[in-house]
Amino acid sequence: MTIPAFTLPSNAKKTIIFRENTVADCLDFCGLDDRLDEVSTTTYLNALQVGEVYDSALWTTQDRRTALWWIFVISNQDTTIALDYECEHCGKRHTADIDMMRLDEGVRTITSDCFIKTELLFDGVERQITIKPITGQEAMYMERQGLALLDLDEDSLAYRQELARLKVVQLACAFRFELEPDDFEEALDMRISAIKTMKRTSEFRMLVASIESAFATLAHGLDAVLEQGQLALVSYPVACESYQPKEGEQEDATPATRLLIPFQGKLFIPEL
Ligand SMILES: [Zn+2]
Repeated sequence: MTIPAFTLPSNAKKTIIFRENTVADCLDFCGLDDRLDEVSTTTYLNALQVGEVYDSALWTTQDRRTALWWIFVISNQDTTIALDYECEHCGKRHTADIDMMRLDEGVRTITSDCFIKTELLFDGVERQITIKPITGQEAMYMERQGLALLDLDEDSLAYRQELARLKVVQLACAFRFELEPDDFEEALDMRISAIKTMKRTSEFRMLVASIESAFATLAHGLDAVLEQGQLALVSYPVACESYQPKEGEQEDATPATRLLIPFQGKLFIPEL
């Protein structure tokens, strides 16, 4: 079976050729460290490329997740995933079989530039920044930094401080200055230092709002949301199974829910 060429959702001009996974891949990738999902994703997406490898660490996180999903739906005969959820309409627990193939209804591809330039004040000085999606390299960095939280008590001051620090790191990964050092961590540190100088209620809020708005404009790939640091894919509407249609009511009057599908590499990377 051949996997049709995959177009990067962030860049319609770039296509990637993946090969079908083999038993050797399953052996290589079984027992992945759940805590390093982004690292596994990079290794897997690079290993499966045919010909010249375009390092998936440089793709956006949405490109990477959409690529994992693409390989999964093309390579598997059964593309359904069972999800247990509490129904917001009737309060009961239902089990839905989500056909992952149908998520393609929500795939968006960007045909223009996948960044937005704007000017913001940093400690009273206007500077031009380019807001752009988080890359795989940045996601891997944040994932490693996030491991520190696992050793801390959630009610502790240290935990809250670490969480606040990670929030700043995430914002610093979402933009670039015009002139930056080539080194990844040096450039990131420069942005973190600049964010720390911002006036909290005016300048910093403006940065957060600008990034949120740019991310909405630059949305691409599968429909997904970030929930407590974990990315979840958004399903098509799933009808409440307990609902009894009233007499003469149309079928589409049945209340439905869009479910959040937890997205982890182990769900998509094959096991034997
Ligand atoms: Zn229900």
